[in-house]
Amino acid sequence: MSRNRLGRSFIFDYRFLGPLSDYIGLMKRQNTVSAKLNSFLVDWSEAFELPPFASIKPHHFRPAFDQALATHRAEIDAIATSKSPASFDNTIAALEKSGRILERVASVFFVLAGADTSDEIEAIEREISPLLARHNNALYLDRVLYARIADLYQRRDALALSAEQGRVLERYHTRFVRAGAALDKPAQNRLAAINERLASLGTQFGQNVLADEKAFAMVLDESDLAGLPEFARTAARAVAEERGHKSKYAITLARSSVETFLQFAARRDLREKVFHAWIKRGENVGPTDNRMLIAEMVALRDERAKLLGFANFADYRLDDQMAKTPAAARKLLDEVWGRARTKAAAERDALQALIAEEGGNFALAPWDWRYYAEKLRKTRYDLDEAEIKPYFQLDKMIEAAFETARRLFGLTFTPVTVPLYHLDARAWNVTDAQGRHVALFIGDYFARSSKHSGAWMTSLRDQERLSGDIRPVVVNVCNFSKPAAGEPALLSFDDARTLFHEFGHALHGMLSSVTYPLLAGTAVPSDFVELPSQLYEHWLEVPEILQQYARHSRTGQPMPQALLDRLLATRTFNQGFATVEYTACALVDLDLHSLPDSAALDVTEFERKDLERIDMPAEIVMRHRLPHFQHLFSGGGYAAGYYSYMWSEVLDADAFAAFEETGNAFDPATARRLRDFVYSAGNLREPAEAYQSFRGRLPTVDALLRKRGLADSEVTRP
Ligand SMILES: [Zn+2]
Repeated sequence: MSRNRLGRSFIFDYRFLGPLSDYIGLMKRQNTVSAKLNSFLVDWSEAFELPPFASIKPHHFRPAFDQALATHRAEIDAIATSKSPASFDNTIAALEKSGRILERVASVFFVLAGADTSDEIEAIEREISPLLARHNNALYLDRVLYARIADLYQRRDALALSAEQGRVLERYHTRFVRAGAALDKPAQNRLAAINERLASLGTQFGQNVLADEKAFAMVLDESDLAGLPEFARTAARAVAEERGHKSKYAITLARSSVETFLQFAARRDLREKVFHAWIKRGENVGPTDNRMLIAEMVALRDERAKLLGFANFADYRLDDQMAKTPAAARKLLDEVWGRARTKAAAERDALQALIAEEGGNFALAPWDWRYYAEKLRKTRYDLDEAEIKPYFQLDKMIEAAFETARRLFGLTFTPVTVPLYHLDARAWNVTDAQGRHVALFIGDYFARSSKHSGAWMTSLRDQERLSGDIRPVVVNVCNFSKPAAGEPALLSFDDARTLFHEFGHALHGMLSSVTYPLLAGTAVPSDFVELPSQLYEHWLEVPEILQQYARHSRTGQPMPQALLDRLLATRTFNQGFATVEYTACALVDLDLHSLPDSAALDVTEFERKDLERIDMPAEIVMRHRLPHFQHLFSGGGYAAGYYSYMWSEVLDADAFAAFEETGNAFDPATARRLRDFVYSAGNLREPAEAYQSFRGRLPTVDALLRKRGLADSEVTRP
């Protein structure tokens, strides 16, 4: 893959996208277990209190969901209609303890729906997502319950609450108000209908993208593979095998498959063919066409925002983020956009010159960019991916991520054999410096057709102390190419970064140290949640980590210093492309969700015009075009929020500089503050306050611009 720093940073984080996204916070613990329920869905009695995956069958889920929803509803009703005056304990703490069964059923279900789905699971997902939305509505639009919360909120200063309790109360109040709990009944009814419809549309959207990805495979013969290095051939052969084409090679629309092909394949016609299929996902006329779904979702979001008193969805969405306003997000994106375009133009000229040098008589097209960038990188830095890749073994990179966590936070990871949902998934017991159990970590790294594309962190159980010392079970899911039997699994440098990225999210869940589930781990605003993950990527590039863990798969030798130097020297190479590819998406997202009138939206036309408005370079296509932009439409966790990755990148670049300033990438005092105020702090504080406590000041954009080679002195150099 390219030295594309943005590449893996903009990762589809399923945790925040599933139908549970807005929802999971309230589905928290309670201790009674209904006897009628499929007990194994609830009584997790395997080692580490895991669910018995082997006994769980798809047909168990629907009845389990029905009963779990009913139980949670009864718990909420009991809280709302209590005859006792509202107290923190009988209202807020009680809500925090409610919904435990539902949370268990849902967490198992959504782990499977993301990482090991099937037609049966997909059908249940379509059925259950509107039910969950309806349940969620009934909770957040419960006026009797809201009256108790509002009463407590008004009296909050007289309640003698701890700081954490005050924060939980405030978060509940904000959530209920933002959901519409204070509106009149007709408005609430409309909101409820909107939410349910959005949930169904979001599920359908993601399934359509997956269907388009499943439907396509470019099956090739050995003679079509000119330019492809050995690792890419091996991966293509394994995919062909999985899809029933013996002795052939197949390229799919999984990012790792298609991007590798675009980067190396000499056959321009085949590059063009696979590129078109890739960027047309969700836009193919027929049952998987997502464009009408998008138009409806955007209109519904707009209507919801207006019912809640906001001018548009972007205003509504950002009001409860660290950025606070679309203007603040735009200011950052604009600051980057002009510099990125200038840098991309210089990069384009260099690639066009290379084409001319080779005697090519055509203008650089989007399906050429990665191919010629790879060639130029090879020429300029004498570096090619095939030379690097044998040094990035999956198992060694997992060890590297663990070692980093040991040096920063004193954690130890011991492999354990426990029953999981798929044979490719592995588990580690995580302990602290005193040998105490911290968490169970599950890694599920290989692509397969039953897995959604992208990479994400999710959990089977979140940390809390309200119902005892509950330790988390955290899952990382990736889509790395599975090697042929007997071969080591090799990663690109970008894949290795993805691994570190998701592991950073995982640590945010595992190190969580809060009492109330609502505030645990990754339950922070989405423009702050990428800080722990993107920051963690920096340690992959720390020389001592690379020297120790980047070892050749055959010889076991460490990467030669000269190669390492050249690898790190390419960090800002092609960053104009990567930054444009990303920032265009973030700008289009904000524009789409700020439309004053979204009725009768023509999605294709809107995307075209908006790209024209921002002067998108013709040779670059958005990293995610709207018809398959799952961050925005597959659940909606990043709708009007795609800017978050860059917002977080300002934070991560500035945060890593705090370590650099000490001269020690593992400086203990800095690591301690990082743990206290970021990785273990969940949503205990406002993000800006948390950051300031860690860094001693608010972040500046300078470190980000340097990291991407976009500082003033650098932008005209390709
Ligand atoms: Zn992430």
